[in-house]
Formats: sequence, structure tokens, C-alpha cells
Amino acid sequence: MTNSTENAQCIFCKTTSAPFTSIEHIVPESLGNTDYILPRGVVCDPCNNYFASKVEGRILGSDYFRQARHRNGIPSKRNRIPIQEALSFPDAMRLEMGIARDGSPYIGPADESQNDNFASRLLNSNRLTAIFPVADPPDQRLFARFLLAMGLEALADRMLPVPRGIEVDHINNQHLDEARTFARYGSGRDVWPFHEARIYPEGRHFHDLADGTSCDIPHEYTLLFTDNNELYFVIAIFGIQYSINLGGPEIEGFHQWLAANNDQSPLYPQGP
Ligand SMILES: [Zn+2]
Repeated sequence: MTNSTENAQCIFCKTTSAPFTSIEHIVPESLGNTDYILPRGVVCDPCNNYFASKVEGRILGSDYFRQARHRNGIPSKRNRIPIQEALSFPDAMRLEMGIARDGSPYIGPADESQNDNFASRLLNSNRLTAIFPVADPPDQRLFARFLLAMGLEALADRMLPVPRGIEVDHINNQHLDEARTFARYGSGRDVWPFHEARIYPEGRHFHDLADGTSCDIPHEYTLLFTDNNELYFVIAIFGIQYSINLGGPEIEGFHQWLAANNDQSPLYPQGP
């Protein structure tokens, strides 16, 4: 079994000699994932660290995802919900909106020395108009690598119950090598296209965290094997469904699959 560290081999760099001390979250914890975890022995520590800091860290630390996590109340690994920056109008005071540890929202000046100004401003006017910057989506090439890494891990997870399954069907499957290399080293390709579509409103699967009700996960994923023997990783994050081909930098097969399946979502065959 690959899931003991004795016979460990990394699904990304294929090393058997690096340390394997970490479990691996298939979907980053900062997207609310505490359920989908690969045991030690599947991803080596150097690859684990690389993805955490150079891929996931950059994607989830981008303004685009920080704003989405703020809107949806998703804390980071360190249990902090990102703040949303804003500007008051028309006087352009820099503001921060956050969520306190007790779950209550707050707003205040970014610069604490402006606290008195802010308080008197609120006293003098019964309304506060604020402008929120809207961030561009993160770098598409890096995002493709982020999707491929999650997809290769999701595939390993699927093979975990089979003895030597990961070694035989994943690590030794050369059809996955291009995706491995691009995800881990960013080399070999300028672009790796993926398909993107909003399938439900961003907050649809959420309940209000502040009132103590349960909240659903902000991500769901699946693996789609098409009739043409192509393998797609499909994940919805904050209501946007991303689909990427693990076998090569082509997305045409997914368009064909959509056309043959009434544009349904692989995640929700019956509709979301
Ligand atoms: Zn590795």
C-alpha cells in the first residue's frame, strides 16, 4: 500500500527518498476543506510545501479569492477570515470590513489613527457609503496548475483502497506525466486551458455563519471519465465550476461532452 510511509512514492515528482511526514489536503483548508485528505506517503514533503506556498498560497491569497472568502466567511488555516478593503465615499478613507471571533461583522478605518475621525464621521452623517474594489481573477496559468494538482490528488484518493493502485495506475501512467510536470514545475506549456462556468449563485450553499447554523462546504468536486477515454477533474468553487483535462492541455473533449449531455453539470446530473 502506498499509504504507509515505508513504500511511499510521490504522485508528483515520483521520489521515494524524500520525507513523507505530511498529510495532504486535496482541496486547500482555506476553502473550508477538512474532509478530503490524502494520508502520508502519497505526496512528499517538498511537493507538499511547494504547492502550499507557491500555488495554493498565491491563488488563495489573491485579491479575487480573499474577497470571495470574506464574502462567504471562510477562515484560513490560521482561522482568520480575510478582511475586505473598501474606501469611504466621497472622502476616500481606507476602511476594513471583517468578521470578529464571535461571528459579528465590523467595519473600521484601516489606519487606527483614523478611529476618532471615523467615529465623528459616523456621528455627523447617518449613512456611510463605501466603494469596494473588484479584483481580477487570479493568473490563469497558475490557476490551471492549481486545478491539475487537485485533480491528480483526487485521482490518487480514488485509487487508495486498491493495493498498489496508485503506483500502477497513477504514478506509472505516463498519460498523467504532462499534468504532473506542469502542476509541479510549471514547465512544458505556456497554457493549459480549462472550462469555467457559473452553475449556481456564490452564496447558495451557505447558511449564515453568524447565527450559528451549519454551513455547507464551498467546494465540491468529481472526476469525469468521458466515452473518449478522457479524464476531467471538475470542481465548483464559490459557485463557479472549473473543468480541466488531466490527460493533456486540450479542452475540446469537454465541450463535446457538454454538447452530448445537454450542457449538464458533471457535478449535478439532475441540476444543482
Ligand atoms: Zn514529490
